[in-house]
Amino acid sequence: MPGSVVVTGAAGGIGAAIAARFAKGGHTVVGIDLDGERLRERAASWPGEHVTVEADVTDEERLREACERAARVPGGLRAFVGNAGHARAGASVGYPLPEWERMLAVHLTGCFVGARQAAAHMPDGGAVVLISSVNGQRGFPGRVAYGAAKAGIAGLLKGLATEWAAAGVRVNGIAPGSIETELSAEFLAQGVIDRDAFLDRIPLGRFGRPEEVAELAFFLGTPLSSYVTGTLIPIDGGWLAQ
Ligand code: NAD
Repeated sequence: MPGSVVVTGAAGGIGAAIAARFAKGGHTVVGIDLDGERLRERAASWPGEHVTVEADVTDEERLREACERAARVPGGLRAFVGNAGHARAGASVGYPLPEWERMLAVHLTGCFVGARQAAAHMPDGGAVVLISSVNGQRGFPGRVAYGAAKAGIAGLLKGLATEWAAAGVRVNGIAPGSIETELSAEFLAQGVIDRDAFLDRIPLGRFGRPEEVAELAFFLGTPLSSYVTGTLIPIDGGWLAQ
């Protein structure tokens, strides 16, 4: 019995694809997003049972409630996917401190509090998958706050993996390159990256699709990856390999 999965940012491009993949695999999806209306629209196309929760991932109490709800599903809470995120570019010298703090809160603290609430409901083990970025491993001018938050996730997952291994909770991360979603379009619109120049540097010669990230999240979030923990896997068309 697959049980349930909690996916944050489940109304977005990558999150909705991940939710749909777990739903296809027989999981009950508990999807969390700031945008409740879009979340409910997206969830309508997921097969099987689902629960939608309109919440901010920085609100640990709401994440606790969502994980508790997920744990009541027959088969229990099997996986947590920390995926919610936003794009806010800007040169570092003038970057507003509240925006910096919000970036860290949503991407890094959101993953931390979500992961620990989920792990508390995994008495028989489970899997945590955190969405980082190639931007956590390479610098981009104008994306310093984002890169710092994503690099934080790389450290977070390693620590949690070692701390929770004895409890059978595996923790891994995914570092997407450029995947075609509203967030990447937003970064392009903010003029940080030139689309054609970036594309030229991708060995596979194209941007990625949310469904391709979802397959990797499903692998890491299920016993298919039973001997994998503490690792961060790029999915970037070979971009980091150069
Ligand atoms: P998206 O903008 O399509 O979706 C993000 C979703 O997260 C949205 O539905 C949004 O409402 C939700 N969200 C944002 N802040 C939230 C909060 N505080 N609480 C709850 N929900 C919140 O973006 P996406 O491209 O699908 O990105 C998903 C994740 O993948 C993000 O963490 C992003 O940083 C990461 N990522 C994306 C790319 C890419 O190229 N698209 C590359 C690397 C990493």
